[in-house]
Amino acid sequence: MNIIVVGAGIAGLSTAWSLVKRGHSVSIVEQGPIPNPLAASGDHHRIIRRAYGKAAGYGRLITEAYEAWDEMWTDLGESHLDPRGFLCVSREEGDEAEEYRAGMEEGGWPIELLEPEAAVARWPFLETGSFRYAYFSPDGGALHCRKIATGLAKWLRDNGANVYEDSKVVAVDAEAGVVTLANGETMQADRVVVTAGAWVLKLFPELGGELKTYRTALAYVEPPADLKAVWEAAPVILDVGGKTDGYMIPPSGGAGMKFGSGLHKVPTSDADWNRQPVEGEGEAIRNLFSPPIARIEEYKVTEVVTCAYTFTADEKFLAHETGKCLIVSACSGHGYKFGAAVGRRVAQAIGDGDVGGLKRWLRAETL
Ligand SMILES: Cc1cc2nc3c(=O)[nH]c(=O)nc-3n(C[C@H](O)[C@H](O)[C@H](O)COP(=O)(O)OP(=O)(O)OC[C@H]3O[C@@H](n4cnc5c(N)ncnc54)[C@H](O)[C@@H]3O)c2cc1C
Repeated sequence: MNIIVVGAGIAGLSTAWSLVKRGHSVSIVEQGPIPNPLAASGDHHRIIRRAYGKAAGYGRLITEAYEAWDEMWTDLGESHLDPRGFLCVSREEGDEAEEYRAGMEEGGWPIELLEPEAAVARWPFLETGSFRYAYFSPDGGALHCRKIATGLAKWLRDNGANVYEDSKVVAVDAEAGVVTLANGETMQADRVVVTAGAWVLKLFPELGGELKTYRTALAYVEPPADLKAVWEAAPVILDVGGKTDGYMIPPSGGAGMKFGSGLHKVPTSDADWNRQPVEGEGEAIRNLFSPPIARIEEYKVTEVVTCAYTFTADEKFLAHETGKCLIVSACSGHGYKFGAAVGRRVAQAIGDGDVGGLKRWLRAETL
């Protein structure tokens, strides 16, 4: 089949990769460069981790996620996963760190529990007396998104796909399978897969009932000099406990250390708006991490990056079929880690027509 993929974030690139491997003729069309720094997949790194709450179902899917990444590393000839494990810190009974712990224990995935003193001795960036306990799992790490995108774009070109950068799609005729570009040119295919991330509602506003777009920001920081070596070897910090919805990625893959928080997430009706960081935004994000991070003001904010992404109300992933078009939104703020697996599943559904099965898998309702 002749297939057009709209959008070259991780969902689009992985879908194109898997479609090419299944023998399809693929064109992928991206409005910006690949990687696109304004896309959710265009930042330096994203976390992969087994931890999900008990009910989510996505914890089980991580096994397939790892398998799919391994298949991709084989094709790219190198791995872009830094498998440094993850750490959670609980500060209040029933906080998110505890929910993740319950999910790990229910799934039978081992964690290493540490009393506060032992945790501070091992990771001295934690503040003594500010938390109840910490736990570590080797089942996680950082995926190097920009290296993955560059590697996949090259792999696609080397394997016969057409890769178009700086080519914005302004309309999709789902019945005809015709895509119109901003310069007026049109392309036609047997199937069109739309993986447009936070921009999807510009092409398919009718999905606005199910998908909401948000703008958020994160801060890159330089840790205090005497803690640099500890951070270099530290796991990703998935949760800092209490009411702080925050995570940290240590320096990894040549990229700096990052603080991110859901507390700075605001609804937006347009993924292109408000993309300039606001004065003081980086320091405000950073300061959320104390407690349990000690000496927080010694972490120097070096860069603030904004991001746009889409969520469903129940934080699951979504597919919607209309005519020759399959629209896929695998985000809800946690989709990157499943990118390679999503690509394989979407390509499979294009081949066998089982979109119902794809939807169930995307919702983590089946394996
Ligand atoms: C701050 C932040 C932190 C996150 N942390 C994590 C994490 O730690 N772990 C994790 O698993 N997930 C995380 N996520 C979620 C993850 O980044 C996303 O789920 C994933 O990157 C979505 O990929 P995508 O390909 O669907 O969308 P995107 O990466 O947004 O890609 C969509 C692409 O389509 C292109 N496009 C859009 N419209 C058009 C058009 N009309 N024509 C042509 N091209 C178009 C865009 O330019 C873009 O390149 C995080 C998200 C954010 C914002």
